Amino acid sequence: MDPCTHEWSICNVRHGYLVEESCFECDGRITFFSDEPSPPKEEYREGRHFWAYRASVQTVKFDLKCRACGRIVNLNDVNGLMLSQCTDSDCRVGALVREQGPDSLVYVAVCPNTTHPTGECVSSEGIEALNQYFRARLAPVGRMVTVVPCKLCNSFDRCRGTSIADTGLTDIQ
Ligand SMILES: [Zn+2]
Ligand SMILES: [Zn+2]
Ligand SMILES: [Zn+2]
Ligand SMILES: [Zn+2]
Repeated sequence: MDPCTHEWSICNVRHGYLVEESCFECDGRITFFSDEPSPPKEEYREGRHFWAYRASVQTVKFDLKCRACGRIVNLNDVNGLMLSQCTDSDCRVGALVREQGPDSLVYVAVCPNTTHPTGECVSSEGIEALNQYFRARLAPVGRMVTVVPCKLCNSFDRCRGTSIADTGLTDIQ
């Protein structure tokens, strides 16, 4: 058991783009973070994959550090956070959005392999720390927050939302 209840604060802030690519061969989808002034759009081959640019949105990448115990949770496997607006009836994220009240927010943490060929998504440690951080941050303004890994989406392609691009969280208040 971790004796610290953790007071998370944001560290290692980097602004850039959440870039989405798709593969012609397997229909896979990947994401990466780019801090270049404009995100790269070249097509390239990687083993049996042939990746082509799909879309990009502004995002902010960060890690979380506890003010009390100094622990750092590395969020390298989070390439973006989307405020979900999913209405898909087959989607567990959409179901969460519908179940919760209008003052509740559902964020989807976007991992590097959004079609999840290996089953891997954002680490449970990362998801737990993100939930603790956003709940502490938004409870005083009367908002409930749930952060879920993008694996919970029926299809990340159709699970739409607004990218969080600002650590001041001005886009959600
Ligand atoms: Zn702590
Ligand atoms: Zn492929
Ligand atoms: Zn994922
Ligand atoms: Zn969805």
